[in-house]
Amino acid sequence: MNVRQVRLLAKSSHPTREYNDRMNTRSVSDLATLREQMRRCRLCADAGYPITPEAIFSGVVTARIMVVGQAPGGREVDLGLPFSGPAGHRLFSWLEQAGFEEKRFREEQYITAITKCFPGKGKSRGDRVPTAAERKLCLPFLAREIELVRPELIVSIGGVAIRHFLGKVRFDDAIGQVYHVDGRSIVPLPHPSGANIWLNRPTSKDLLQKALLSLKTATGGFSH
Ligand code: SF4
Repeated sequence: MNVRQVRLLAKSSHPTREYNDRMNTRSVSDLATLREQMRRCRLCADAGYPITPEAIFSGVVTARIMVVGQAPGGREVDLGLPFSGPAGHRLFSWLEQAGFEEKRFREEQYITAITKCFPGKGKSRGDRVPTAAERKLCLPFLAREIELVRPELIVSIGGVAIRHFLGKVRFDDAIGQVYHVDGRSIVPLPHPSGANIWLNRPTSKDLLQKALLSLKTATGGFSH
């Protein structure tokens, strides 16, 4: 899949305030229904995958930015909050450099993942990467979140999320860029996990700074 083939529902504009209010009310209620469906979902466990339910995500239907990670970690399960472990601390230190304060960002934006349940520990460092089959089971939830929230910008975190939105792109080429796909911007960031050895390379520091500057510029018109 390449960028041209990616088909996300574009944010649409509607003519009257009354119509927008009505749509917003419906989206709030639809998102509440979706949240409940995600929390109750046991598809991966039923299929034999060693995940820990329940689904972890947060945010509001009015979010202009959606952060999409790979999958929550163990700490996130404990707290019921995405990006609340060490990787999350690092992510929010990055977002701060792009002009976003954590508390407000969590209140005003939306944070989710390609697969929404903790996949367990991997064989080496870090958490297990969800299989293609697990991603296939979970991705309809992400599509529905995007449909309801209609974010103007998606921050895709790590290789799995980046490939989902952008197809096969070279990681070093993608970090620092802002992509425009079907009416919304996509800003790729590396995964902030301590297990991500990409972060330790000297050249990665410059790419990360470029990416944070791109995010800051792309969201310049948003209230931070
Ligand atoms: S990862 Fe997604 S599809 Fe799998 S059980 Fe959790 S919510 Fe359901």
